[in-house]
Amino acid sequence: MTTPAVIKVDTPGGMSFDLSPEQAMIRRTARDFAEREIIPGARERDRGEIFPHDIIAKLGALGFLGPTVPEKYGGMGLDFISEAVIFEEIGRADSSIRTTLSVQISLTELPILRWGTEDQKRRYLPRLASGEWLGCFGLTEPGVGSDASNLATRAARDGDEWVLNGRKMWISNGGVAKLALVFAQTDPALQHKGLAAFLVETDAPGFSAPSIHGKLGLRSSNTAELVLEDVRVPADNMLGDIGQGFQIAMSALDDGRFGVASGCVGLIQACVDASTKYAQERHAFGQPIAGFQLVQELIADMVLDLETARLLVYRAGYLKNKGVKNTRETSLAKWHASESAVRAALNAIQVHGGYGYSDEYPVERYLRDAKVATLYEGTTQIQKLIVGRYTTGIDAIAPRR
Ligand SMILES: Cc1cc2nc3c(=O)[nH]c(=O)nc-3n(C[C@H](O)[C@H](O)[C@H](O)COP(=O)(O)OP(=O)(O)OC[C@H]3O[C@@H](n4cnc5c(N)ncnc54)[C@H](O)[C@@H]3O)c2cc1C
Repeated sequence: MTTPAVIKVDTPGGMSFDLSPEQAMIRRTARDFAEREIIPGARERDRGEIFPHDIIAKLGALGFLGPTVPEKYGGMGLDFISEAVIFEEIGRADSSIRTTLSVQISLTELPILRWGTEDQKRRYLPRLASGEWLGCFGLTEPGVGSDASNLATRAARDGDEWVLNGRKMWISNGGVAKLALVFAQTDPALQHKGLAAFLVETDAPGFSAPSIHGKLGLRSSNTAELVLEDVRVPADNMLGDIGQGFQIAMSALDDGRFGVASGCVGLIQACVDASTKYAQERHAFGQPIAGFQLVQELIADMVLDLETARLLVYRAGYLKNKGVKNTRETSLAKWHASESAVRAALNAIQVHGGYGYSDEYPVERYLRDAKVATLYEGTTQIQKLIVGRYTTGIDAIAPRR
């Protein structure tokens, strides 16, 4: 019997679907760590709303709290595909921990790296990348989420300091962070052109962060309200300039959505893995349920969403590596990956039948954890409107602004 000849052609455009040896090694390391250290305790942490300080410290020691931070600031100096692979593998294990990482890396370190002064980078990045300090990102307020240009938190200049007053809502890592990136209005008349970003050390007098309990999912991730009552911040701790706050928030969300999308790819992978194993082991009508076409359809639908979400994420990562604008591509990846994660988790529960409805199996947690990804860092509606704006040239998010 003859076998077909292997045909090899060069890809002059540079398109490749392979991970580099270094990226493959990152995946192995992250997966080994997740299987050994994260997966075994995930159910108990979820049940008890327990924030895993010990696991976060170990992730810091591995370098996974600062993958894309340059080595000179204490990070690993990796590319964005490597970062995505880390989020994927941690997201496959536990979305609560992936959320802590996303906020640390994408919403705290990268804004400092992109917008900070040399002094700010040297002061904060090594502490964050090592895990000595955790960071949080304070944009959302009790009265304002999607309409992020309309913040009520105020910053008033007083000599060499800014005085911050206001409240932030739903802030991941809020109760465990030593550094908070807080967005505030310096002059309401200027609307979004008056916004500024501040690096607030959370031991400053007047700062408190009561934790929020009773969340549907992400139960072992810390979520808090930030309360700022006459919090004094040195003028040197403004990130960027007055008027750049909105731009800083939006560029941070380009990085943040990439992390969320990558984590969702991992969560969909977890749904496929759990469902395949269960369907092969569970028998009905004298055969493994994996042999029923309708069960295969549930799994095949997950696989299509998994592969397409991963392609969109890696394409966005490829653009990030090139340093080109990627808002549209990152929004597409976040929208598709987060909605796919919800669909995959629902299908995974269906494959598991009644057992899928209890935390004896992880799939019910996958559903509760997946849902938030369609909400935070811009809801699915906001992602659709970003894509719509790029396609039509018309801004339908804030049509009257
Ligand atoms: C667990 C968790 C963690 C979070 N972590 C953080 C964090 O670390 N930092 C932070 O700053 N925030 C965080 N958030 C907040 C999150 O980003 C916001 O909840 C989200 O942006 C939506 O804002 P909102 O809740 O105020 O909803 P709203 O903006 O009030 O939206 C309500 C509904 O209206 C829709 N809507 C609003 N405007 C439009 C429009 N123009 N067109 C069409 N539909 C629209 C929305 O899509 C949504 O369906 C977190 C939230 C949760 C639940």
